[in-house]
Amino acid sequence: MVRHQRILFRFFCALLAFCLFAPVRVTAQSQTNYTEAQLPVFELHSGFWINLHHTLYYEARQRKAAASRVATANKSSSATTKSLIAGKGLTDAEQKTWDEAVAYYAANYAEKDLLFTTELIQLKDQLGDFEDCDELSGRKRKFCDAGLPPSLTQVLEATAPVYRARLWPEHDQANRHWILQVAPPVREKGEGVAERLADIYQTRWPHEKIRVDVVAYANWAGAYTTVDPLRVTISSLDPRNQGPSAFEVLFHEGSHGIAGAVQAAIIRECRQRDKPIPRDLWHALVFYTTGEVVRTVLTLPLANGAEKEKGGGNSGDGYKAYAFREGLYQRGWKSYLELLQRFWQPYLDGKATFDDAIARMVSSL
Ligand SMILES: [Zn+2]
Repeated sequence: MVRHQRILFRFFCALLAFCLFAPVRVTAQSQTNYTEAQLPVFELHSGFWINLHHTLYYEARQRKAAASRVATANKSSSATTKSLIAGKGLTDAEQKTWDEAVAYYAANYAEKDLLFTTELIQLKDQLGDFEDCDELSGRKRKFCDAGLPPSLTQVLEATAPVYRARLWPEHDQANRHWILQVAPPVREKGEGVAERLADIYQTRWPHEKIRVDVVAYANWAGAYTTVDPLRVTISSLDPRNQGPSAFEVLFHEGSHGIAGAVQAAIIRECRQRDKPIPRDLWHALVFYTTGEVVRTVLTLPLANGAEKEKGGGNSGDGYKAYAFREGLYQRGWKSYLELLQRFWQPYLDGKATFDDAIARMVSSL
């Protein structure tokens, strides 16, 4: 009996150990890419190369910023910034490879903007397209020739084993976690939100699912979108993109692909009235609109079907829209917010036409 209990005890201990350590083991081995292709509207990727690229870019910019802070302060000490890979148990050879790659990015890309530089946009798209290749030169498999500049191919291929061993498991895990948390609302409400936004902008939501590359580090804004092809890049680690905000950020970025008509309408009205074109009004409008649509969708079930105060970005204990929460209107868009609440909100409520709303906003500028 005692022996039987001991065997049972050992069995449960073994089972417990398996349950405790199995997820860790799976995570440690999960170094391949991940694609969530079953959702409507978006196709979400956690891809190795595009993550490595953004990580090197991020660290190169960090180092440059630290160097310029030191230069400004006129200190004699050399610039120091903690490497993302510090404390990860790198060998000297690995550290050297990583530092050389960061130096290469600092020299070639850190000064260029991820969103506005054609070279970086193409690079990012190529690295996304070749996410299933374990090399980029086509040396082993011809179709894996990504067509990158040879020096960059060399840098990325040399750094890949270091990144794969030391950082990628945690980056990939963060990306997958981000995808998992945003998947349920996209599955349930994604199509409805996409249709509503397309109606508002008087256009159609793209027929093809929008590719979203989830990366540990994106740009300074935490997310950015490039067009032709329409692709979204979102940081999984950025605190601004967490919880219910993940859903709004996704649709804000996706809206960049359909907001052209609004931008054009604002420009047209300004020209007719001989007014200077307000920089960023269209972008404030996109923030406001996505925030309002998402807030309504995410708040209604919580509020027992009762619609709360509109245009405030806050609904009691419900969802607070990104631009309100992050203080975007407070930092230079205050007058835009007043225009949006006064003239654009009635359009969202079905009490004004698109053309009237734009005309009134522009005439009040
Ligand atoms: Zn935006």
